[in-house]
Amino acid sequence: QLYNQVQDLKGAIRVYCRVKPFVHDQSDEQHSTVDYVGENGNIMIVNRQKQGKEARKMFTFNKVFGGNTNQEQIYLDTQPLIRSVLDGYNVCIFAYGQTGSGKTYTMSGPDMTTEDTWGVNYRALRDLFELTEARMDVIKYELNGLNVPDASLVSVKCTQDVLHLMRIGHRNRAVGSTALNERSSRSHSVVTVHIRGKEVVSGCSLKGCLHLVDLAGSERVDKSEAVGERLKEAQHINRSLSALGDVISALAQKSTHIPYRNSKLTQVLQDSLGGHAKTLMFVHINPEINAFGETISTLKFAERVA
Ligand code: ADP
Ligand code: MG
Repeated sequence: QLYNQVQDLKGAIRVYCRVKPFVHDQSDEQHSTVDYVGENGNIMIVNRQKQGKEARKMFTFNKVFGGNTNQEQIYLDTQPLIRSVLDGYNVCIFAYGQTGSGKTYTMSGPDMTTEDTWGVNYRALRDLFELTEARMDVIKYELNGLNVPDASLVSVKCTQDVLHLMRIGHRNRAVGSTALNERSSRSHSVVTVHIRGKEVVSGCSLKGCLHLVDLAGSERVDKSEAVGERLKEAQHINRSLSALGDVISALAQKSTHIPYRNSKLTQVLQDSLGGHAKTLMFVHINPEINAFGETISTLKFAERVA
């Protein structure tokens, strides 16, 4: 009954837009392309170097977080979804946006040694551990097997982070991680937590699953610059992101055919997208003027899945 508030989110796709803080430089040309952020999920984008209807556009999402929003505020609006995993839901949280727009900042934070700036990943795991302990007399939980479903797209840099993460839970058994440290923007980084629970009195069991996905940068790679392996990689990424967009938008429209099979990413996440699952997409905006074009494509992508 604690999490009734999230019942209505089942099957729904939520889209949150987060704006990276705007940093002024000395030149007059520089202005934030985010004209304003409304309480009701509106965001107005402006390009003062352009005229006419191209110059200004409004988008609406479930929530929009301006540049002064801190990590704790972001997590407060994510927490109900995370917690519903312990009630047996499958939850997927994505970070989408061009390279440098703040995806990794949202999911992992800039630096995991300071708790204040922890991103969704660490806060979520801490939360899950705290809740499983709090409910221990009622439900016995097991948290298992963080893994990277799409192993071909992820590389791991060191195991220190895995150990650190384990300590968050105060116990060694339950959790490991491979991808939290993934900083490359040319691959998707997926962290998965599986949960099993058994009610002490009734013996009833449940399972839930949480996917935390820091997607590869969404920018279109200029074909004249990228060649060979890099071009192939870029095309692969663009294909998997548009396949993800197709799946989420088909789900949002309650379409009868959901094209899961078009990419490995959507195949792997199939059980956690649609149906009984809950999906949250964080789209990230870099408010610098030179990112204007990518900002518009990001917001259009987000509008399609909302
Ligand atoms: P991405 O993962 O999308 O490529 P990052 O998360 O690495 O982008 O962010 C790029 C830079 O901007 C990093 O130095 C990061 O610390 C900083 N940054 C991003 N979002 C924020 C924010 N909300 N507040 C402060 N700094 C941020
Ligand atoms: Mg990143």
